Amino acid sequence: MVSALKYKYRNIGFKLTPQRIAILDYLEGNTGHPSAEDIYNAVAKKFPTMSLATVYTTMGALREKGNVLELKVDPDKKRYDPNTAKHNHVICISCKRIFDIPAAGSIDLPDSLTGVFSVLESYVEVRGLCLECQTVNAKK
Ligand SMILES: [Zn+2]
Ligand SMILES: [Zn+2]
Repeated sequence: MVSALKYKYRNIGFKLTPQRIAILDYLEGNTGHPSAEDIYNAVAKKFPTMSLATVYTTMGALREKGNVLELKVDPDKKRYDPNTAKHNHVICISCKRIFDIPAAGSIDLPDSLTGVFSVLESYVEVRGLCLECQTVNAKK
């Protein structure tokens, strides 16, 4: 597992310290869209001496190299997504969980903009309440 990670990130441009490998390992296949604090809390269990700054610098380098997306879906904090393929997000406004949804087709522009505006990227963000939060709210 570690050697596969070392191979995958061999050109990342920073030293693959055990702490950074633990961060990469935590991110691998992670669909929870963790914040820097989430990553820190998970990895600090194994590496109590690690600092939040290490998480930030590591995530910054990964983002620059295109290995992770920085999401602004959650207004409270940046969230990271190791799934860099085009996809959209659904966020629960109560518990702030973010779910992936497949990328929809292109968004149709109104006639007034067709041929005038060239679309470089489009992204859909859906906000709502997940089933659990709907249940909690109903009980209130
Ligand atoms: Zn929720
Ligand atoms: Zn995602």
